[in-house]
Amino acid sequence: MNSDSASGFGTLAIHAGQSPDPTTGAIMTPVFLTSTYVQEAPAVNKGYDYSRSHNPTRTALEQNLAALEGGRFGLGFASGMAAIHCVVNLLQSGDHVIAGNDLYGGTYRLLQTLYRKFGVETTYVDLTDHAQLEGAFRPETKLVMLETPTNPLLRCCDLQAIAAIAKRHGVLSLADNTFATPYLQNPLRLGCDIVVHSTTKYLGGHSDVVGGALITDDEELHKRLMHFQNSCGGTPGPMDCFLVLRGTKTLHVRMERHCENARRIAEWLQQHPKVERVIYPGLPSHPQHELVQRQMRHGGGMVSVELKASVDEAKRVCSSFRVFSLAESLGGVESLVDHPASMTHASIPAAERRAAGLQDGLIRLSVGIEDCDDLIADLDRAIG
Ligand SMILES: *Cc1c(COP(=O)(O)O)cnc(C)c1O
Repeated sequence: MNSDSASGFGTLAIHAGQSPDPTTGAIMTPVFLTSTYVQEAPAVNKGYDYSRSHNPTRTALEQNLAALEGGRFGLGFASGMAAIHCVVNLLQSGDHVIAGNDLYGGTYRLLQTLYRKFGVETTYVDLTDHAQLEGAFRPETKLVMLETPTNPLLRCCDLQAIAAIAKRHGVLSLADNTFATPYLQNPLRLGCDIVVHSTTKYLGGHSDVVGGALITDDEELHKRLMHFQNSCGGTPGPMDCFLVLRGTKTLHVRMERHCENARRIAEWLQQHPKVERVIYPGLPSHPQHELVQRQMRHGGGMVSVELKASVDEAKRVCSSFRVFSLAESLGGVESLVDHPASMTHASIPAAERRAAGLQDGLIRLSVGIEDCDDLIADLDRAIG
């Protein structure tokens, strides 16, 4: 289906980039398990010559994701990190990056341990503070990288304002939209140049695939990114593309339930005597709640809770759930609990972690789409 013929998110999620297979009428996009394509004559082909460069299952996914983000061009990757890596490949030695100070750990690691040695320097700023952002620009700044909401403190930054600031400085803006998904917010529509996703999370949605994607509406930029996608070769296999494509078909329905469950859980936790603080973008108590209402459709599926607890007590709580599973990652149909201080964020020194506002008693919930009463009963039992 051509994305011009529909505007509703659910219709695009199910149909964009896909049409019945012309040879059989199969309604589902086939998994094209092929590395090469037979050519009619040298360099005469049907648009496909080698599967690192292009594969029809991947093309369907790329077009589908582009339509959902409101961009014209999508690129698939073997992981979210491979997608972010592709964007950083646009830079060269001597260039400067401005990034949020609570970036996804893997992105931070890529910038610090790989790109720094190639002469690309990064300044980390609090992107909710626009004066700090303005102050970080240098003549050699080429890229602003942002995430909203962030992990695990769910801080939200103003996509439209930051994109405008970057544009005024002639600098590209990259938004990691993994936590929000295109159903909740569309950074390209707010002026950002590139959107990145770890499709491993909500887009795949079933914890059965690792993948990534880039979406842009700028043809020139798309061509430059596609060049590095093919040069570096971090492309996804067709089966993985199929799984993500299956995931996006139900994204809108899943997100409604993720968000509804998360909101109810956040409200319930707020009343709990052992809870110090609930962080959820959909609650009026969230520091950027006004922005969230402008920028996001709902508050998302992630809830962070600061328990009045030591590291050991928080670990005990995390180990005593029966419905929530103790695991890293997020965005699947099943509920997960993470203790950042000892799991996802353990590599950050304790003092630095606390200074950044990440307390030892904080637990992060990826709220799934189970029956909410069962999730609340599980939290009640675990927190005690
Ligand atoms: C998981 C994640 C990534 C990395 O994606 P992978 O698919 O694990 O490589 C990047 N950004 C955010 C916000 C993530 O949650």
